[in-house]
Amino acid sequence: MNAQLEVHMFPCLSDNYGFLIHDSEENLTASIDTPDVSAIEDALNQKGWELTHIINTHHHYDHAGGNLELKKKTNCIIIGPAEDIERIPGIDLPIEHGQEFKFGSFEVKGFHTPGHTTGHMVYHFESEKIAFVGDTIFVMGCGRLFEGTPQQMIESLDLIMSWPDETLLYCAHEYTQANAEFAITVDGMNQDLIQRKSEVDDLRRELIPTVPTQLHLEKKTNPFLRSDDQEIRMGLGMMESTRTEVFAEIRNRKDQF
Ligand SMILES: [Zn+2]
Repeated sequence: MNAQLEVHMFPCLSDNYGFLIHDSEENLTASIDTPDVSAIEDALNQKGWELTHIINTHHHYDHAGGNLELKKKTNCIIIGPAEDIERIPGIDLPIEHGQEFKFGSFEVKGFHTPGHTTGHMVYHFESEKIAFVGDTIFVMGCGRLFEGTPQQMIESLDLIMSWPDETLLYCAHEYTQANAEFAITVDGMNQDLIQRKSEVDDLRRELIPTVPTQLHLEKKTNPFLRSDDQEIRMGLGMMESTRTEVFAEIRNRKDQF
């Protein structure tokens, strides 16, 4: 029997999620990103865990802003994308695209997923079938293209889509309701989407998180993964366009929604 990776998720800032992961056998705890130092400390206290690692997805302040303060307090090891070592403070262990590393007894693979930022990285725990995807993919949405191109983002999303369908995706923001409202405007005939939107509305009425999501649900309802869908293309009048062109149009519409 393999050790279990425990994931503790908590809301922080206005719409971020913080995540602590814990290896009970080796007594290691990592914070995925550092959105909010006091919320992370509260979560650590609540669980009785001591911070040993930070694993960063990207350089934005609501993801890496707490790095140095937490490192100073705990002397934790900071793991992050080699691509963005200049912009993410305190990285001890830079990870290259496709590089495997150990968190205690767990194997993790980092993948460079440019689009939202040029240096973004996602972390896949293949045996556990979970991944921390930062601001690359959201429930029924994807990250804004602040630095990357549509072509880069579609390749990043394709990489995520190549994982097993049951993979749990831990996205870093609760943007789901707004994403669903937008998704309906480009994929309004999609029965899975209509049903999921109403489920999400029910959950959010009670302030229940919609994260994590499962990859197979995203394939059915996330318009950013569905740029080859015929109904979506028909609606956009883009039957002959490339997937990247369709993706870019959907992203553009979402930015203006
Ligand atoms: Zn971001």
